[in-house]
Amino acid sequence: MSDAQPTTKFQCTQCGGELKPDQGQLFLTCPFCGSTVYLDKSKVVFHWYVAPTLDEAKARGALARWMSGNETVKDLDKKARLGGVSFRYFPLWYFKHKDAGGRERITLQPAAATSVTEVAHLQLPPGDLRKYEDRLDNDSEPPSVPLDAALEWARRGPAVKETPAESALVHVPLYTFKYEFSGETYTALVDAASGKVLANIYPEKAEAPYQLVGGLAAAIFLGLAAIPVAGAFFGDDGAMIGFAVCSALGIPAGLGLMALAAYVSQKV
Ligand SMILES: [Zn+2]
Repeated sequence: MSDAQPTTKFQCTQCGGELKPDQGQLFLTCPFCGSTVYLDKSKVVFHWYVAPTLDEAKARGALARWMSGNETVKDLDKKARLGGVSFRYFPLWYFKHKDAGGRERITLQPAAATSVTEVAHLQLPPGDLRKYEDRLDNDSEPPSVPLDAALEWARRGPAVKETPAESALVHVPLYTFKYEFSGETYTALVDAASGKVLANIYPEKAEAPYQLVGGLAAAIFLGLAAIPVAGAFFGDDGAMIGFAVCSALGIPAGLGLMALAAYVSQKV
């Protein structure tokens, strides 16, 4: 008898049945219970996907609404030049934790390289998770980040110290849009399940003009507040007069600042 290498046994996460993957096969359906699983280096985990509800036209609509909204620079929807769009199922590691009170908490980590790490902030309601299907293989990006590495990253985040009660691989449907604005190229993802737009870097509303208005407001009101304080040096009457002056000036100053703020938000 030779010391044959013990072959790794893979067991179904759901029923414990022995899985016999073909060489290099990573996505598997259990022949006993029909669960879909993924074979990571370290363990077997459930494999889910989220079904898309938006077609490309609706995803474009979601992107246009986001571009015309408050987060992005004014008229981005009109000024951006849309480039290519592509669709794929992107892999996420899904960790379910239980806190001391028994409440469940989900954290996500990208399971493949992406410039849009915002994908980790997607909401994945458990009811949306479906058994992964082979027919999706052509549109699915296989995971390139091992489960252990993702867990290590998750532990560096806030309040994820313990080993998760459940780990899974989830493929989420994403449209990737490229667009150009002011000579720069940007990437925005649209979650084809929720219509949520995900972007790390985008042309934001400039903050400097707002900070200027805020700083001006602080300076003016500090100045006004000094009047009754100064008046108080001349006794109670002085304080009263100072207070009246402060109020009289404060109202038009406030209105003026509000008008300025409105003007800035129109322009920026
Ligand atoms: Zn099974």
